[in-house]
Amino acid sequence: MEIKYEDLIAFHGHSCPGLAIGYRMTNAALRFLSQERAEDEELVAIIENNACGVDALQFITGCTFGKGNLIFKDYGKHAFTLYSRQSRKGVRVVFDPIKIPEDIAKDRDRLIEWLLSVAEKEIVSLKKTDIMEPEPAQIRRSIKCDFCAESMMDTRAEKISGKLACIPCAKKLRES
Ligand SMILES: [Zn+2]
Ligand SMILES: [Zn+2]
Repeated sequence: MEIKYEDLIAFHGHSCPGLAIGYRMTNAALRFLSQERAEDEELVAIIENNACGVDALQFITGCTFGKGNLIFKDYGKHAFTLYSRQSRKGVRVVFDPIKIPEDIAKDRDRLIEWLLSVAEKEIVSLKKTDIMEPEPAQIRRSIKCDFCAESMMDTRAEKISGKLACIPCAKKLRES
């Protein structure tokens, strides 16, 4: 079952070049992995930016923050890795903008159209990869911030002069 770009627009809220790129990258990754994995295996995505394209990835693959199978690394790169939790084998997908014609790049609508129709290999590179790093621990113990009294995951607490601070409070204290 292939998800249509129109369905993605409804999910994301608008059509944009980033969404079109994410659509092409995700479809390329799934096609690559379908030769490697069983149909019911759960996928994990490691994303390297948090822009529009990630919505395509979330919607199509079912990897979401809430389920814990979407891991964000803030590298500012147009790339992600999609892998099977069972086999730990996956694919790294990178978007390459070099082939975008200059006149098309300036026109948003034409660019979207171009991104959706150009041959996959012109804009997407795929590389088979093994995931070596262990799964992030899913510790969800909840503790209270000594400053605002709101609860947080214990992994996010910071010690400030002997007290526990949440991230926003710690930031405020550092700035004051
Ligand atoms: Zn967008
Ligand atoms: Zn706080």
